[in-house]
Amino acid sequence: MRTRRIIYAADALILLLLAAGISGQAPTQGGPLTVLSRDGRRPLPTVELQGRQMVGLDDLATLFQLQIREDAAAGAVTATYKTQTLVLTPDQSLVSASGRLVSLPSPLVRQGRRWLVPIEFISRALAPIYDVRLELRPASRLLIVGDLRVPRVAVQYDDGPALLRVTFEITPRANAVVTQEQGRLLVRIDGDTIDAVIPPAPAQQQMLSAIRAVEPNTVQMDLGPRFSTFRASPPVSIGAASVLTVELLAAGADSSAAPVAPALPVFAGAHRPTISTIVLDPGHGGDDNGVKGAGGALEKSVTLSVARRIKAVIEGRLGMRVLLTHQDDNRLDSAGRAALANNNKADLFISLHANGSPRPATRGATIFTLSLDRVGEDARRQSQADREVLQLFGGGTRDFSLVEWELAQAAHLDGSHAFAGILDQKLRTTAGLPSVSLQRAPMRNLAGANMPAVLIEMGYLSNAEEERLLTSTEFQGSLATAVTEAVVAFREYLEQGPRTPMPPTPAAQAQPPTP
Ligand SMILES: [Zn+2]
Repeated sequence: MRTRRIIYAADALILLLLAAGISGQAPTQGGPLTVLSRDGRRPLPTVELQGRQMVGLDDLATLFQLQIREDAAAGAVTATYKTQTLVLTPDQSLVSASGRLVSLPSPLVRQGRRWLVPIEFISRALAPIYDVRLELRPASRLLIVGDLRVPRVAVQYDDGPALLRVTFEITPRANAVVTQEQGRLLVRIDGDTIDAVIPPAPAQQQMLSAIRAVEPNTVQMDLGPRFSTFRASPPVSIGAASVLTVELLAAGADSSAAPVAPALPVFAGAHRPTISTIVLDPGHGGDDNGVKGAGGALEKSVTLSVARRIKAVIEGRLGMRVLLTHQDDNRLDSAGRAALANNNKADLFISLHANGSPRPATRGATIFTLSLDRVGEDARRQSQADREVLQLFGGGTRDFSLVEWELAQAAHLDGSHAFAGILDQKLRTTAGLPSVSLQRAPMRNLAGANMPAVLIEMGYLSNAEEERLLTSTEFQGSLATAVTEAVVAFREYLEQGPRTPMPPTPAAQAQPPTP
């Protein structure tokens, strides 16, 4: 096994900046976090301890209605929210979250009468047990509580002799409107508030004297003495972002001249297909346990846990929308799973499974894409059977739509194979899986998905070593990182098109695994 990676906030930030194609500002250190919720903003004080940002458990208790108890006998501190309890131990970087272990970058420490935890405690330990969404953005020192829309806005300048172009990259995509009033331009961005990174205005052209974010969701540009007029394009979708360009023109500039070619390299990818919504399908659920491991692990629990982790990492790093076909332990048929992805216009569908074999030594991961052969035949046979039913009973229209639905995946096989190839590489390199194979099989789980779709058998629960891995927090985290990196690479592949060499093609026809 290779060294596995744990996700650190700094990694996430760097990846985010690379993915967004913006040049980064150094993250602001110190000062309180700002807690944003429907009730407004409030500060959450932080303490810096050996280079780590810490928060007081007492402050978290007040903010999130936690019961904090010291268990002197067990040498532990517990934080209880409703029926769920987090157990922390001084000098240990692990938190037990309702029986699951979560790692923190540094341990719980006592300072005077207070207990301090690293701020990552909020996203890693508290968020999974809290019943309202918590999103920590360490770089912008925000803690978002609930379903507030807080797009990130990155501003960039490009100047010409008589022109200053100001580019707003808004992630996730949101509309923006530019208006002019009394010596300033206002850029209003759809959202409850905005998380803006705004470098100082370039001074030398005297077209923009100041620029800043103003509450709740506006960037205000104060105009300088040389400003004459402006032009703005409607926002363009580029990847997960909307990009708005506002050009300020100096007095005497020829405003009818064609706009200067946009400087952002990401513009090259405009209007190409890309990814904004991903559906993750945790295999099995409810009374369908899937495979049961040698040590008792259930496939349905492993798939749900991994799906939740992938969702958290992709949403946190890439700002994409990630939906799960089921949030809790309930049962869904394969058509319902694909339908959820289709109804939400997902751009990628990933079904998660773990395998089982009567031979305990069998191991390794497999990535499946759809092989049309047998599904096509099944669909034809089904259609034939329905026609016979029609002749007997008359009426009904479901047979033809059923065939089309079943074969929705046929139009996306190139994309599915490309994603499978990328994912294969990332599972080997990032998650350190020694053995990954690519196969095509006539899988009903994938047939109805109207977007690139893969099914991952992450390993064999019937193999004791793989069962231990698949149920470990660390390995699940590295799987989530690998899938996230594969999504980034796939998005680049889609946006760059033919310049990217095709990933390896999966091996030909294989037998379907246990569904
Ligand atoms: Zn399964």
